[in-house]
Amino acid sequence: MSPNKEKQDTFEGLALLAEVSQLLTDVELDKVLNKVIRLIAGAVGASKSSLFLSQDGSIDWEHLFTMRNLTSDESVKVVTRVLDEGFAGWVTRHKRGDIIEDVTKDERWIIFPDDPPSNRSALCVPFLDGDEVLAVVTLVHEEVGYFTTYHLRLLTIIANQVVIALRNAQLFKRLTVQRKHLETVLTSISDALIVLNPHGVITLANPSALRILNATSEQDVIGKPLELFSERDRMFEPIVEIVRAELHQNERWTFETRTENLQKDYQVTMGKWREHERENGFVVVLHDITTLRDLSRFKDEMLRVATHDLRSPLALISGYADMVTMDLPDPHSPIHDYISVIKRSVERMQTLVEDLLRVERVRSTPLELHERTDLEALVKTVIVNMRLQTDAKKQKLETVLELKGVPRVVADTVLLRQSMENLVNNAVKYTPSGGIITIRASYDDERFYFSVRDTGIGIAPEHQKYVFESFYRVPDVPVSEKGNGLGLSLVRNVVTRHNGDVWLVSEVGKGSEFGFWLPLKPPNAS
Ligand code: ADP
Repeated sequence: MSPNKEKQDTFEGLALLAEVSQLLTDVELDKVLNKVIRLIAGAVGASKSSLFLSQDGSIDWEHLFTMRNLTSDESVKVVTRVLDEGFAGWVTRHKRGDIIEDVTKDERWIIFPDDPPSNRSALCVPFLDGDEVLAVVTLVHEEVGYFTTYHLRLLTIIANQVVIALRNAQLFKRLTVQRKHLETVLTSISDALIVLNPHGVITLANPSALRILNATSEQDVIGKPLELFSERDRMFEPIVEIVRAELHQNERWTFETRTENLQKDYQVTMGKWREHERENGFVVVLHDITTLRDLSRFKDEMLRVATHDLRSPLALISGYADMVTMDLPDPHSPIHDYISVIKRSVERMQTLVEDLLRVERVRSTPLELHERTDLEALVKTVIVNMRLQTDAKKQKLETVLELKGVPRVVADTVLLRQSMENLVNNAVKYTPSGGIITIRASYDDERFYFSVRDTGIGIAPEHQKYVFESFYRVPDVPVSEKGNGLGLSLVRNVVTRHNGDVWLVSEVGKGSEFGFWLPLKPPNAS
């Protein structure tokens, strides 16, 4: 090469590198690829070029530049073959560029039937990111031996630069796709999602959240403190309180809140949001539970009506029924039988009403926590009280008590006794004569345990999770054992309000064991 030609080449090479470095600022993959192809082919004077981009180890078929005019089906076949057996495949495997002086004499060059005879020499370089081949570029020329080692060196240097631009563009594309996914999820979920920074400033709100915040666009809320909205709607107050109080020992909060503006109830789940161990703020999810709450309010109202408004008429019916029998001159009149049917039915209804009232009273009145309850004495009272019932049904009552030295706890003694008696009552009720009822009570460092085991009818697995619900009764229980389905719900209500929990193990035909535990430290008054 003459010194002048060499100078000229160096100058063009530098100009090309300057242009390539411009590429680094571009993040749109299509634009970057188009420019790369144009620059490289122009720089070395190639007549045709191709570029195969790889993504996560396989060909990115969406961004394919071939030197032939092919349909997408044909291009898949051609590219696969070129990469398996052809020059681009050789370069990919060897991870280095090379030149083919004469394509007709090099077996790495595949000549396809429609290829014009003008393709004579070729040059191919890989774009390497470390050990990974990110792309391969092939250039062809009509002259045999056109490409020089200078071209190869220049393209290898350019390829190194382009790799950065390609990586950036690929990353940008991936981020854009991920952002789109996230946006789709956020817009399609019905729950409202609000992300707050550690100071309670809104950094993200999905469309459902915008509706609750009474905003039309993200701009109305992003960057504003949630506190601003809690002045308009008190439903956000508990959230603002948590952020303000910096309750660092907690990670997660679940509570209910209600907006009077929209007349809606929400279950709020709030969690801390962390990035690399640094606290970044809070994620708040609001789930609409208005229907559930409406039903619950409806149920409460029905219960109130049923209990209060039925009590007096039932007492009246009962009283008048007594008067009718008193005024009947004939002691053998069949009317006496009719009246006693009426009386029995009224009594059943009165029992139900009384039970409902009792449950509602238990639920709505705060626990009486002023006593330091002696759990050992309490369990013994329950055993004495219940022995009458087990004796009457000819059942064996066994007790296993390990309560010596149990610390006294702050608890509602009356309600605890009722809960224990409910469990024993059920055991007696659902166990045939001759069965065995075992009451166990014990404690450890943290908890007090109470359980009642029976050898009765048992409960099938599919019913077990519902028996603690109000009014739930296992279907097909023998008629003589009818109850109203409120006993266990009362037990659970009392136990959970003491910060304890209930449990059940049961097998049909073998028997059941119902139990609960209570913490040995005082519960919150609720
Ligand atoms: P009920 O007044 O119907 O007894 P509970 O709430 O006490 O109401 O119990 C709910 C249902 O759970 C009962 O109807 C019964 O089907 C089932 N159950 C409760 N305790 C037992 C038990 N010890 N053995 C078998 N079934 C039981």
